[in-house]
Amino acid sequence: MFDQDHIAEAIAWRHDLHRHPELGFEEHRTSEMIAGLLTGWGWRVHRGLAGTGVVAQMGQGAPVIGLRADIDALPILEATGVAHASTIPGKMHACGHDGHTAMLLLAARKIAAEGVEQGTVTLIFQPAEESEGGARVMVEQGLFTQFPMDRVFGIHNWPGLAPGRFVARDDKMMAAFSVFDIEILGKGGHGAMPEQSDGVIAAAGRMAAALQEIPARALSPLEPGVVSVTQIHSGSAYNVCPDRAVLSGTCRWFGAEAGDIIENRLRRIATAEAAAQGCTADIDYQRRYPATINTAPEAALAREVAGEMGLDTAMVGPSMASEDFAFMLNEVPGAYLWLGAAREGENPGLHSAKFDFNDAVLPAGAEFWVRLARRATAG
Ligand SMILES: [Zn+2]
Ligand SMILES: [Zn+2]
Repeated sequence: MFDQDHIAEAIAWRHDLHRHPELGFEEHRTSEMIAGLLTGWGWRVHRGLAGTGVVAQMGQGAPVIGLRADIDALPILEATGVAHASTIPGKMHACGHDGHTAMLLLAARKIAAEGVEQGTVTLIFQPAEESEGGARVMVEQGLFTQFPMDRVFGIHNWPGLAPGRFVARDDKMMAAFSVFDIEILGKGGHGAMPEQSDGVIAAAGRMAAALQEIPARALSPLEPGVVSVTQIHSGSAYNVCPDRAVLSGTCRWFGAEAGDIIENRLRRIATAEAAAQGCTADIDYQRRYPATINTAPEAALAREVAGEMGLDTAMVGPSMASEDFAFMLNEVPGAYLWLGAAREGENPGLHSAKFDFNDAVLPAGAEFWVRLARRATAG
């Protein structure tokens, strides 16, 4: 469907982005490149939402479809050894957002060449997907009031699925998440005289075990949820009982009620386990992304388009990982989609220092965008 030299050019953009990764809200070079190409192809380009965001439109009137790509990189030291490896130590495209960007650009070039006969195609190049919530900021700054849309779609490459696989679930796709820090404070003392100090370490240990049991005992066995304590920091000597410990971690869930149960139970356990050891617990609990929940008609449309391309749309379960496209789906019907992108042999996962977007699936992703745009604007 695409000219071979256009595909080669898109892969070259991908490699260029990969060489020059930029973290959330700092994607200035990336944003410049996107806006330059789109302008050249005749898209009406708007810049500045969430700082480095780019929104581009073609066509007129309803229906309006939104296609979103995330553009940010991660603070990881790349270890792929590929020719197009990051030139910036400590930053890399380890989630394939370079691929998402190039995929949507290749589609944009084709859509522009074909023209949009009916309705409006809106491209959303979104900064800061990785834990900074660039989607939330774009929405807060007026993404859908300045550019009203009927439906929005987002794609993530999925190394856990083979190329040719494509998943669009009718409801739950990715989990909601929170982060927490619990500071345990008590009286410190000599390691040989525990009766003279509070049980800061005991509280930290019991708390870590009890918190991780929350989903098993406070949620229905049919309701997914995770509490992971991922950091414990305390102590500085063999013979000193410390006066402070900090536990940190993350929680995941789907339903709003499950999210409330997890937070309430976490607060109660942390307070009670600290008190039982004579300590206090200062709890900083922050909800970050809501759950990414597709609407069924949009998921069905995506499966239909993918099916026409010969992609295998068999269903798989949702992921407990999270995604800030959830903020867009909270506003507008739509679907978040996984494009199978596994490599043969060694297949590093997302956020691995050895991950590199699989260029072999770039044309399929772009073709899906072109076909979906055509179908969704046809009314
Ligand atoms: Zn990621
Ligand atoms: Zn990602």
